[in-house]
Amino acid sequence: MQVTANLEPIPILVYHQIAEAPPKGAPFRSLCVSPARFRQQMSLLRLMGYRALSIGDLQPYLSGEQTGRVVGLTFDDGYLNNLEHAMPVLSELGFTGTCYVVSAVGGKTNVWDKDIGVAQVPLMNDAQMRAWISAGQEIGAHTRHHVHLIEKSVDVARDEISGCKAELECKLGREVPHFCYPYGEYSPSHVDLVAAAGFVTATTTRRSRCHAGTELLAIPRVPVVRSTSWFQTWLKVKTTYEDKKSERVKA
Ligand SMILES: [Zn+2]
Repeated sequence: MQVTANLEPIPILVYHQIAEAPPKGAPFRSLCVSPARFRQQMSLLRLMGYRALSIGDLQPYLSGEQTGRVVGLTFDDGYLNNLEHAMPVLSELGFTGTCYVVSAVGGKTNVWDKDIGVAQVPLMNDAQMRAWISAGQEIGAHTRHHVHLIEKSVDVARDEISGCKAELECKLGREVPHFCYPYGEYSPSHVDLVAAAGFVTATTTRRSRCHAGTELLAIPRVPVVRSTSWFQTWLKVKTTYEDKKSERVKA
């Protein structure tokens, strides 16, 4: 089991959509952070002297080879609004982020959410993922169909995990070494499948900043949602606020 050796706690932020929220009462409304709010949060990090980095760019910090004021920046699911609204801000500030995409539904919509009434919005297609990468950003893997891994057989889980890596590497012509568990759900056998597929890191929805000694294939993160204020952003990055949260957030 490989573990992190960072000298200071590193918050790894997780966003979903960067878009205006749907009307009150809509399911998963909290997972939309408005473009203006996102820009404010990134600017606040900059003012605090932090750089936001993709998981790939964060690796020397996780291994303890480098130190500095850094946060990890991740986006789950591969929404086109990440490219439209997050990428310009990241480019302007010299920040990078990792977008975890669902490889079998690129260019479609968040169909896995349809049955629970979540508004359907476009996901990045192949060309848009390449545009994201051309701007210095990173693509990670989030299974082929955004499945509940713990409800699937080992063979299906293996196909969802390693098949996603293969599909993305074929489409993008580059290695995809970073994975994210859909819904934050996994068991030790899924960690083994992720390792066997050749992934170097995997992120979860367990809440905490990343401390030294964290298993690289089960890295906790720090959620940022629609209502997260400037003050809460500061708390989440600078203090033990998130370290005290232990519950898993389904998303
Ligand atoms: Zn997801």
